[in-house]
Amino acid sequence: MKKLDFPEHFDLEASACHLDEPCYRVKIGTGEDLSQLMPFLNAVADVIQYEPGEEPVMILKIGGCRVALRSHEIAVGPVKDRKEGEKALSEVLDYLNETWARSHEIRPNFKPKRRANAMEIYKLLPGTNCRECGESACLAFAVKLALGRQSPGACPALSGDSGTMEKVQRLIG
Ligand code: SF4
Repeated sequence: MKKLDFPEHFDLEASACHLDEPCYRVKIGTGEDLSQLMPFLNAVADVIQYEPGEEPVMILKIGGCRVALRSHEIAVGPVKDRKEGEKALSEVLDYLNETWARSHEIRPNFKPKRRANAMEIYKLLPGTNCRECGESACLAFAVKLALGRQSPGACPALSGDSGTMEKVQRLIG
């Protein structure tokens, strides 16, 4: 795979990743086949979802962003505006290039990783919508947990119930 260069132009599209404020994500196409890189990322990165196959998909966290990779596409978000998007994309490309550069010393991991389902998480939450976690309701908290943008420890009720906490942690990996 050749080095991924920063593109001359990138798309900034509205994203539904926040429930409470507008946000965007950067999307670019790439001539390189990123499916070659995915098993190495799966071994070393903070991967949320990995579905190998004919149309591979990988979701991972890089820096403060959530990154979605397809074989010839990279999407990065959430970002507030184009300037923040440029910085986030640059960091992501650096990370991907660095990982590929040292791929000879990484043992690839081809094992798929299932994404946490927000409704499965929600069913384990107290459902009181007390907002102590900082979210508007338990469902919003579940969605953010599934996206890797919240910590289960932010819910005091969950913190006090080790059995349920273990189940939630198993779901979010
Ligand atoms: S702190 Fe826990 S119970 Fe309260 S709203 Fe958040 S997730 Fe629901």
